[in-house]
Amino acid sequence: MNKFNLSSLIRDNILNLDPYISARTEHHKEKNSIFLDANENSFGSPLSFLNSYNRYPDPLQKELKEKISDLKNVSPSQVFLGNGSDEIIDLIYRIFSRPKIDHSIIFPPTYGMYEVSGNIHEVDVIKIFLTEENYQLDLKKIEKIVNTHSKIIFICSPNNPTGNDINREDIENIIKKFTGIVVLDEAYIDFSNQKSLSKEIDKYPNLIILQTLSKSWGLAGLRIGIAIASEAIIQWMNKVKHPYNINLISQKIAIKALENKDLFFFHLKNILSEREYMQESLKKISIIKKVYPSSANFLLAKINFSSKNLYQYLMKKKIVVRDRSKIILCKNCLRITIGTHEENEYLINQIQEYSTKK
Ligand SMILES: *Cc1c(COP(=O)(O)O)cnc(C)c1O
Repeated sequence: MNKFNLSSLIRDNILNLDPYISARTEHHKEKNSIFLDANENSFGSPLSFLNSYNRYPDPLQKELKEKISDLKNVSPSQVFLGNGSDEIIDLIYRIFSRPKIDHSIIFPPTYGMYEVSGNIHEVDVIKIFLTEENYQLDLKKIEKIVNTHSKIIFICSPNNPTGNDINREDIENIIKKFTGIVVLDEAYIDFSNQKSLSKEIDKYPNLIILQTLSKSWGLAGLRIGIAIASEAIIQWMNKVKHPYNINLISQKIAIKALENKDLFFFHLKNILSEREYMQESLKKISIIKKVYPSSANFLLAKINFSSKNLYQYLMKKKIVVRDRSKIILCKNCLRITIGTHEENEYLINQIQEYSTKK
């Protein structure tokens, strides 16, 4: 087991922080009280049907966290909610890394925000590329590079933009050996056959799992990201976050949406069968060199020539996909999100048409 010591990892200014205590931290649930503590407008808002929105939301989102903790089978005290996963990534940098001294480690090609957020915080981001043949972790290289200034390792599984699962043993190996924080981004886990590592959260005090309501739950517009970690880590996140980081409308709608699991599973099933359909159809088109296996709700497809031309052709046909050809190890690759059957069919037809013109 590693010598993990949480408080030794916390930045000094955070360790000594007196957090802001919001007016509503303790009393927001006491419905019968007269609230004259938060300088709200007691008369209401100018939109009468939005009357209850004159009050600040629950800063700790207790009701929504109960729902999410039931769903994920963890304790509510092991759940943190952010204004999208991006807020949580930002908080992790704030809490665990000192600008110009510490560094994070990422495994490109991967999600862009790990690097952007590091740059914003002036924290060095060390890149160790995934292996070229199957987009897996290069454990030997990682071991060589890790030192006492390595504070955060970001692993994305299923990985964006490659779509594959990262080997489970490799992930657990890193968590066990590394004395810093491992962030495992499971934004696409519901589309994968792999099980979430959230069940092991009690075993790994240095693990932060990221999930989100933006993808499988279809709630990207609400901006709700989820962190699952030890209660100790969650408490540090609660201290550092902005007091009312999840707005009231998002909390209310998410609570309602999470009650409708039937529709969630129905959509999930459709996305998985459409993924199969897209995979098979794309493979048959002559200009497509390779469709990578996917455990997510998108496919990475390599084109036989410059993918930029196909990208622009599709744009003219009013189809927007993501050109990833400039990304390392993704030469001439497009990332295509799985759409509805009609959308997918239209896309396939357009690529076929382009292919025959070539
Ligand atoms: C889409 C995505 C997220 C989700 O971000 P939100 O801010 O929660 O919408 C997180 N990680 C990865 C790898 C993603 O692709």
